[in-house]
Amino acid sequence: MINNKPYVIILLKRDTLMFKKKLELIFLTTIILAVLVLAYNYYNSYTFKHNNIPNSYKKRIFLKEQEVLDNMQKNYNIRIKFPLIVTDKFKGRLYGLTSYDKGNIKIYLNKKVMKESLDYMINSVIAHEYAHALMFQRGYIHETREGHSKEWQKTCINLGGEDCRQYVNQKEIIMSKIPFR
Ligand SMILES: [Zn+2]
Repeated sequence: MINNKPYVIILLKRDTLMFKKKLELIFLTTIILAVLVLAYNYYNSYTFKHNNIPNSYKKRIFLKEQEVLDNMQKNYNIRIKFPLIVTDKFKGRLYGLTSYDKGNIKIYLNKKVMKESLDYMINSVIAHEYAHALMFQRGYIHETREGHSKEWQKTCINLGGEDCRQYVNQKEIIMSKIPFR
């Protein structure tokens, strides 16, 4: 009986050791997985920042633009495709802006906020900016100071914008050359 005792202790020790090894392995695996996830996220945001927008984004923008153009055709009997430029040169957190320079109308979308707000960009911003562009095109230049007028709101809704609130922020209508290229 007494002889058995050391055995038990050895066995226990062995078990403890194996448990420790297991714990170490689990710990290591967790760390490796975490590092991989981090690296993957970093890679994704890096490629997003330094490359063109993904094709899936382009497709959604294209489809929404077609919808806006169809609505324009239906409600205003014209179909003007304005240049729609995705850029990361925005200074602030604006979603988009419309510029008017000697009759040239361009729409810019902010790439920097696109990833986190893609649905809003698609459902609201494109029609919002297109409404500004169409207002310019139709000669509502004098409304610049009051860019989000009742007429603008009507246009935004007619073009298929989901959120056509009359914002007070006027900074996204630019009446000259754009401050970036
Ligand atoms: Zn606006």
